[in-house]
Amino acid sequence: MSARLGITRDDRCYLCGRKATETHHLMNGVAYRKKSDQDGLTIRLCRDCHARIHFDPHLQKAMKQEAQRIYELTHTHDEWMQRYHKNYLEDEYDTDREDN
Ligand SMILES: [Zn+2]
Ligand SMILES: [Zn+2]
Repeated sequence: MSARLGITRDDRCYLCGRKATETHHLMNGVAYRKKSDQDGLTIRLCRDCHARIHFDPHLQKAMKQEAQRIYELTHTHDEWMQRYHKNYLEDEYDTDREDN
Protein backbone atom coordinates (compact mmCIF):
# COMPACT_ATOMS: atom_id res chain seq x y z
CA MET A 1 0.00 0.00 0.00
CA SER A 2 1.27 3.42 -0.89
CA ALA A 3 1.33 6.20 1.66
CA ARG A 4 0.92 8.77 -1.01
CA LEU A 5 -2.23 10.76 -1.20
CA GLY A 6 -2.60 9.78 -4.80
CA ILE A 7 -3.49 13.33 -5.68
CA THR A 8 -0.13 13.94 -7.24
CA ARG A 9 -0.86 11.24 -9.81
CA ASP A 10 -3.16 13.35 -11.89
CA ASP A 11 -3.39 17.02 -12.43
CA ARG A 12 -6.75 17.61 -10.85
CA CYS A 13 -7.34 19.88 -7.89
CA TYR A 14 -7.75 17.85 -4.70
CA LEU A 15 -10.62 20.02 -3.53
CA CYS A 16 -12.62 21.01 -6.58
CA GLY A 17 -11.41 18.76 -9.38
CA ARG A 18 -10.42 21.54 -11.73
CA LYS A 19 -7.01 21.66 -13.35
CA ALA A 20 -4.33 21.77 -10.67
CA THR A 21 -1.48 24.19 -11.07
CA GLU A 22 0.09 24.31 -7.62
CA THR A 23 1.42 21.98 -4.95
CA HIS A 24 0.47 22.43 -1.33
CA HIS A 25 2.55 20.87 1.44
CA LEU A 26 0.16 19.43 3.97
CA MET A 27 2.75 19.80 6.69
CA ASN A 28 4.16 23.27 6.29
CA GLY A 29 6.71 25.32 8.10
CA VAL A 30 10.45 25.34 7.61
CA ALA A 31 11.09 22.10 9.46
CA TYR A 32 8.25 20.09 7.96
CA ARG A 33 8.08 21.11 4.33
CA LYS A 34 10.93 18.86 3.28
CA LYS A 35 9.63 15.92 5.30
CA SER A 36 6.24 16.49 3.78
CA ASP A 37 7.87 16.15 0.35
CA GLN A 38 9.72 13.00 1.35
CA ASP A 39 6.58 11.41 2.75
CA GLY A 40 4.43 12.35 -0.20
CA LEU A 41 2.24 14.49 2.02
CA THR A 42 1.45 17.01 -0.65
CA ILE A 43 -1.65 17.71 -2.67
CA ARG A 44 -2.22 19.32 -6.04
CA LEU A 45 -4.52 22.31 -6.06
CA CYS A 46 -5.84 24.94 -8.40
CA ARG A 47 -4.86 28.49 -7.64
CA ASP A 48 -8.18 29.39 -6.01
CA CYS A 49 -8.27 26.43 -3.65
CA HIS A 50 -4.63 26.92 -2.73
CA ALA A 51 -5.37 30.49 -1.71
CA ARG A 52 -8.44 29.30 0.18
CA ILE A 53 -6.56 26.67 2.14
CA HIS A 54 -4.05 29.22 3.41
CA PHE A 55 -6.82 31.50 4.63
CA ASP A 56 -8.85 28.77 6.27
CA PRO A 57 -7.30 27.31 9.44
CA HIS A 58 -10.06 24.72 9.74
CA LEU A 59 -9.49 23.44 6.26
CA GLN A 60 -5.75 23.40 6.87
CA LYS A 61 -6.23 21.36 10.02
CA ALA A 62 -8.50 18.94 8.19
CA MET A 63 -5.76 18.45 5.59
CA LYS A 64 -3.18 17.82 8.31
CA GLN A 65 -5.44 15.24 9.88
CA GLU A 66 -5.72 13.59 6.50
CA ALA A 67 -1.93 13.64 6.17
CA GLN A 68 -1.47 11.98 9.55
CA ARG A 69 -4.14 9.40 8.83
CA ILE A 70 -2.43 8.43 5.59
CA TYR A 71 1.06 8.43 7.09
CA GLU A 72 -0.08 6.13 9.86
CA LEU A 73 -1.38 3.58 7.40
CA THR A 74 2.20 2.63 6.70
CA HIS A 75 4.02 3.95 9.77
CA THR A 76 3.47 3.83 13.49
CA HIS A 77 1.96 6.63 15.48
CA ASP A 78 5.29 7.06 17.30
CA GLU A 79 7.08 7.62 14.02
CA TRP A 80 4.58 10.34 13.18
CA MET A 81 5.12 12.02 16.53
CA GLN A 82 8.91 11.91 16.16
CA ARG A 83 8.66 13.47 12.73
CA TYR A 84 5.88 16.01 13.08
CA HIS A 85 5.59 16.47 16.86
CA LYS A 86 1.85 16.97 16.98
CA ASN A 87 -1.09 14.64 17.08
CA TYR A 88 -3.70 16.15 14.80
CA LEU A 89 -6.04 13.25 15.36
CA GLU A 90 -6.12 13.50 19.13
CA ASP A 91 -9.75 14.66 19.19
CA GLU A 92 -10.79 11.49 17.47
CA TYR A 93 -8.75 9.21 19.68
CA ASP A 94 -11.03 9.97 22.59
CA THR A 95 -14.00 8.35 20.94
CA ASP A 96 -12.28 5.97 18.57
CA ARG A 97 -9.38 4.43 20.40
CA GLU A 98 -7.37 1.78 18.62
CA ASP A 99 -4.53 -0.46 19.64
CA ASN A 100 -1.64 -0.55 17.25
ZN1 LIG B 1 -9.59 23.79 -6.75
ZN1 LIG C 1 0.23 25.70 0.28
